Amino acid sequence: MSSLNTKNPLTEFFNGEFPTQYQEPPGLQGQMDPLPDCGEESYVGSGKLIGRKALVTGGDSGIGRAAAIAYAREGADVAINYLPVEQPDAEEVKALVEAEGRKAILIPGDLSDEAFCKELVEKAHAEMGGLDVLTLVAGKQQAVGNIADLTTEQLRKTFEINVFSLFWVVKAALPYLPKGASIITTSSVEGYNPNPALLDYATTKKAIIGFTQALAKQLAAKGVRVNSVAPGPIWTPLQISGGQPSENIPKFGESTPPTPLKRAGQPVELASVYVFLASKDANYVTAQVYGVTGGIPTA
Ligand code: NAD
Ligand code: MG
Repeated sequence: MSSLNTKNPLTEFFNGEFPTQYQEPPGLQGQMDPLPDCGEESYVGSGKLIGRKALVTGGDSGIGRAAAIAYAREGADVAINYLPVEQPDAEEVKALVEAEGRKAILIPGDLSDEAFCKELVEKAHAEMGGLDVLTLVAGKQQAVGNIADLTTEQLRKTFEINVFSLFWVVKAALPYLPKGASIITTSSVEGYNPNPALLDYATTKKAIIGFTQALAKQLAAKGVRVNSVAPGPIWTPLQISGGQPSENIPKFGESTPPTPLKRAGQPVELASVYVFLASKDANYVTAQVYGVTGGIPTA
């Protein structure tokens, strides 16, 4: 049985075998096959974030792009951060945000640099004329099967980008965040059920959960909410640029890792959770982690 308003979650999005592919990290979404669906054609807003001013890290591609597009369609101005080599992806997002009549501020730079994190916040605040949503999506994931092969350089970078940058961006933003502001981090199913080849990454994703919960308790009295989204396997540049061994790509999200919904998720399938957590609909929601995992438990 089906009706006009129901969609089968098993088949609504791409559910075939992905072509094996590899790009040097961070990878460009525009060169992926198939292209991830970040809601470019499909996300419809309903005024949930009118007048809000959001900074989205990793906003050029994947999950961050889906959040940025949705925020603009819900009425927010958006500043996005990404690495300079991702400029072509970022330009596409800028055009999509501006098509909604919203401001799109592009601020490329490396989040593993504390001084840059401060500049990023200053610039986003100055150019949008305010800042009340911090959506921290950027992340580094490089699979290494054996701890003996995990370099200290990779370990440091993964922690700097995935964890330290959250401290640096939030510290810089705090003086600007008004009551009612929302901070959203991006953890992972890896923070609950870690893949042995993602030892450093999984450790950072668990750390992000701790950061989110402790910060939420710290900032509650200021009227600032802090929550996290924990994605499962989602089709993005992160995965095809070393996040998974290449042999895992064809059945990514179907059997590597196995999901009850038997397919990878698409970034747009997380957009409404990032919108909800940013919006006043989530006024009584803080210190929470929302799983969007295709059915992999997050407890
Ligand atoms: P993505 O490649 O589209 O996004 C990651 C972004 O991180 C890049 O676009 C890049 O701009 C940014 N980034 C990386 N290093 C950076 C640096 N040094 N400075 C500034 N920006 C930097 O992939 P995605 O899957 O959408 O990843 C977004 C988030 O989702 C990450 O935190 C990732 O850990 C998390 N996540 C992804 C999955 C998945 O299956 N794709 C699953 C769970 C969690
Ligand atoms: Mg990118």
